[in-house]
Amino acid sequence: MRTFVQVLNILLCTACLAMNFKPPTPEETLQAIGNTEGMPVPLRQALEPGDDFVPIALPNPGDWLAEHFEAGQTFEDFVSSLAYKPDRSQDTIYLQPLGEFIGAQSPSLEALKDYATVYFMMPVKILAPIAIREAKLTERVNPYTHNRQLLTRDILILLERNFPADAFCLLAITMEDLYPDPAWNFVFGQAAISHRVAVFSFARYNPSFYGQSQGKDYHHLLLHRSCKVLVHEMSHMFSLSHCIYFKCVMNGSNHLQESDARPLNLCPLCLRKLQFSAEFDVVVRYHKLLKFYHRAGFAKEIRWVSTRLKNIVSTR
Ligand SMILES: [Zn+2]
Ligand SMILES: [Zn+2]
Repeated sequence: MRTFVQVLNILLCTACLAMNFKPPTPEETLQAIGNTEGMPVPLRQALEPGDDFVPIALPNPGDWLAEHFEAGQTFEDFVSSLAYKPDRSQDTIYLQPLGEFIGAQSPSLEALKDYATVYFMMPVKILAPIAIREAKLTERVNPYTHNRQLLTRDILILLERNFPADAFCLLAITMEDLYPDPAWNFVFGQAAISHRVAVFSFARYNPSFYGQSQGKDYHHLLLHRSCKVLVHEMSHMFSLSHCIYFKCVMNGSNHLQESDARPLNLCPLCLRKLQFSAEFDVVVRYHKLLKFYHRAGFAKEIRWVSTRLKNIVSTR
C-alpha cells in the first residue's frame, strides 16, 4: 500500500496557525529575484519589478497569508530545490479529464489546452476521458452539500499507473467535487509533486455549486477561473512554491474571493523560475498569450500583456 507522505495539499493546510505576515521590502524582493546581469535584454526587462507588478499587501482576516505560514521561495531556493525540469524525452503536459465535461456546465477542454500550451510553451495533450464508474474510485456523498465526492488518493494512484513515457506531468481535471480524507469536508485539488501527478476540480468554481444563478457571463467566468487554477497547479508541478512577493497567480488562496482577486500573470520572480525550467522566449510567450486572451475575451489580461510588451525592449 502506497503512502503519500510527500503529497502537497493544495489550497488546504494542516497547520492553520495565526500568522503575522509582513510583506517583503523592495530590497528583499530584488534579492529574491536575484542577479539578472548577462541575460538577453528582453529577458532582463521582463524580470524587472516595474509598475506592471503590484507588491503583495497585508492579508485580510481569513486570507491565505493570515492563516498559513509561507517562508517564500527565492530564485536561488528554487534552483537548489529543483528536482524535475522538462527535457527532450519528457516534454509534454498531459491533461486527463475525469468524468464528463458537459458543454454548458464546464470550461472548454480545448481552451484549457490552448492556454496551457502558450502559458508553458510546451506541447499539451488531452487524454481520452475516464468515466467515473470505470475508474472504480472510492466515493462518498458529502453530508453538507449532498454532492458526490471522489477520494483524491485513488485518483493519484490511478495517474501514477497511467503516466505516459513522454510526460513531464499528468494532471487530472474534473467537474466532480473531491475529498482527501474522510475527516475533510472537501479539497480543491491535491498533488503528488514527487510523482508529477495532480488532480483538481473546477466544481466549486461554478456558481451553480453554491445554488447561485449562473448569470450572463457565467461561461466566461468559469473559463477565467479554470484557466487560473490550471496554471497555478501546473506551476507547482514545475516546483514553483507560493509567491509572497507580488500579487501573482502563484499566491496561495483560502477562498473563492481571494482566488478571484489573484491575477493570471506571473510576477517577475515566478516568471524567472518558470522560464528557467521551461526555457521559453518571454517575448514570444507574451505575444501568444495576447492572442489567447483576445480569443477568450479576457479584457483585463489583454490590457496588461499589451502594456507589458511595450515595456519590454526587444533587441531582435
Ligand atoms: Zn497552490
Ligand atoms: Zn510570484
